[in-house]
Amino acid sequence: MTTVLARGTVVVALDPANVVEADVVVDGDRVVAVAPAMSEGAGMHVIDCTGCLVIPGNVCAHTHAYSALARGMPYRLAPPRDFVEILRRVWWRLDRALDEASIRASARVAAMEAVLSGTTTLVDHHASPGVIDGSLDLIEDAFAEIGVRSVLAYETSDRDGPGHARAGIQENRRFLARVAATSPQLVRGLVGAHASFTLSDETLEACVDLAVSSGRGLHIHVAEDAEDERDAEAMHGRRVLDRLERAGGMAPVPVLAHGVHLDHAEAALFRASGATLVHNPRSNMHNAVGRAPLGMLGSRVALGTDGIGADMFEEGRTGYLRLAEEHGSSGRSGTGPGDDLPMDDAGDADASWPLRRLAAGARLVADAFDEPEFGRIVPGAPADLVVLDQPLPTPITADTLAGHWVFGLSARAVRDVLVAGRVVVREGRLTGVDQDALTAEARVQAARLWERLDAIGEHPFVPGEVMVG
Ligand SMILES: [Zn+2]
Repeated sequence: MTTVLARGTVVVALDPANVVEADVVVDGDRVVAVAPAMSEGAGMHVIDCTGCLVIPGNVCAHTHAYSALARGMPYRLAPPRDFVEILRRVWWRLDRALDEASIRASARVAAMEAVLSGTTTLVDHHASPGVIDGSLDLIEDAFAEIGVRSVLAYETSDRDGPGHARAGIQENRRFLARVAATSPQLVRGLVGAHASFTLSDETLEACVDLAVSSGRGLHIHVAEDAEDERDAEAMHGRRVLDRLERAGGMAPVPVLAHGVHLDHAEAALFRASGATLVHNPRSNMHNAVGRAPLGMLGSRVALGTDGIGADMFEEGRTGYLRLAEEHGSSGRSGTGPGDDLPMDDAGDADASWPLRRLAAGARLVADAFDEPEFGRIVPGAPADLVVLDQPLPTPITADTLAGHWVFGLSARAVRDVLVAGRVVVREGRLTGVDQDALTAEARVQAARLWERLDAIGEHPFVPGEVMVG
């Protein structure tokens, strides 16, 4: 089946920006041509994109689909006073309340919200201590129904005891082995690990062993809160990234979420590693953990939502505005962490910042799928495409794309979405499933999940007790 996205303005690449007037021809799962006025042959499926912008699908490089039913959930404990209490009183209660039906419902909602907002790949980090074995398959199946691409991992941790840690590693091992054996079209895996402060040396070592034997890097939270660094220094005598590096966790290259409290030495270690760091500005602002030292992190900084939906227009805009507020939008007068160094890519607060961050996320996915052209609209690239239908009242060129992105474009404009050549959203609605029925079922599951959650108390884990189990 050949599909032609006809007569649109095509964003061939985000970084450096490249914009052309062209038709995009998709055959099977790939872009096969990008050229002006292709002749539209018989039997071709033509999608008229006149007046629309065609962009590569956005990547959310760190998220937690399991939190998709959290919106509005009950909370009757004392308000959390710090980040660890947020985990103990909110997220580590929610994850323990999850059962198979609510994992599936959460994943379906997360996938729906992703594609409806123009995000075609989710790099997910999953935790459900009550259902570990097979949990990644539940997510894979739910994502496949909607048609979203993903990179999955199970969040290994010692916080629920060594048995759960072993089960987490086993789930990653099982899933990675199956993905390696079958190469599914839309999913790859990483080795999921929670964070240094909930990982014993033994568990971290087992995660690294799996990363090395599978050739898939870790997906791990690093230095999201100062407590992670305090714990690493107190319990292991070194900083978080130093601990990870000495354990062998920087090769194969990992996906590192947050990095808010990395110091100069850790930033240098990160930059030398080829790893990707995922910045989650809305989550960091909401948890009041601080802002990552972007000025010293280089260009391999991608964007994630950390579970706050999957609207990468919104995430990019928020991250940019926060940086611009500190630096001025021309970029050079920062007062934040790491800003004593000359600004470089991730710290440069010009309007192209969201485009550069999204391109870094696409490079991560390109590596995971071994698809070097992923994230660009060129012949040979996987056809993950989004059609935005929104008035563009000023000229749209490579030079003006960043301005449109920051000050105009919105997930509300998403009209059509293709993932691997399959139309998964048409005229703003899911094509593969009845989205009203999906939403109704999600509400039923959310109510059940909230009831179980309400009966679960604060998680007993405190940093420094990781060996106790
Ligand atoms: Zn996270």
